[in-house]
Amino acid sequence: MTGTLLIVSAPSGAGKTTLIQRALVGRDPELEGLLFSVSHTTRDPRPGEVDGRDYHFVDEGVFRQMVIEDEFLEWADVYGQLKGTSKAAVLPHLGEGRDVILDIDVQGAAQVLESYPQAESVLILPPSYAELERRIRDRGVDTADQLARRLALSLSAIERYEMYGYVMINDDLTRAQEALRAILIAIRHRRERQTERVAEVLRDFRDALSRADSGGV
Ligand code: ADP
Ligand code: 5GP
Repeated sequence: MTGTLLIVSAPSGAGKTTLIQRALVGRDPELEGLLFSVSHTTRDPRPGEVDGRDYHFVDEGVFRQMVIEDEFLEWADVYGQLKGTSKAAVLPHLGEGRDVILDIDVQGAAQVLESYPQAESVLILPPSYAELERRIRDRGVDTADQLARRLALSLSAIERYEMYGYVMINDDLTRAQEALRAILIAIRHRRERQTERVAEVLRDFRDALSRADSGGV
């Protein structure tokens, strides 16, 4: 059974990383086996970021070579830096039945939904412009220029909300976390994901009824 590919996008600062981390580290049995796809990027690591865990940090030459060799499922120029999801980070895991989360921007989401339409997708939005500005400022990693750029680009992400299957407003963190968990659990309960388990139940019923029949009940 193939795993599900779940795209999660958000305007920068809306809380996507926080929510995904909570879903992944929560040791929630319902979310067991969920994998995070580690992207490649040409941007420099921020303090605390670890190569191979947060991103694969590569120079532009390496990235461009991977593009030429068709190694990416999707890639895009995001705020002036190249970012991409390698096929290797995703396809083998889906093949093994694992669910994989992609934290990618709207350009990447459009590419994945085009080439892999069975992907599920969630857009996380901030409750307001002022709140997004406050969160990005408080995070404290952007210059004034970068902040203005992120805020201006946020509108184009919000305007493309119709591309996504699920949309959630990250107002209250606990509620948003619950909503993401609910979406993940719902995806795992789609009928086509349950065929093997349903087959077992069916077999059990058929066996029991034929035993009952032959026993003359
Ligand atoms: P993104 O990954 O979308 O860029 P982050 O997860 O880094 O965003 O969150 C940006 C900032 O907003 C962080 O400082 C985070 O702690 C804070 N934050 C996230 N969700 C909420 C929320 N619901 N309420 C208040 N602050 C939040
Ligand atoms: P950051 O630089 O803050 O880590 O990420 C900024 C943006 O880059 C976020 O919107 C995130 O979703 C996006 N991003 C991260 N990895 C990828 C990727 O592999 N592909 C695409 N298209 N976007 C990505």
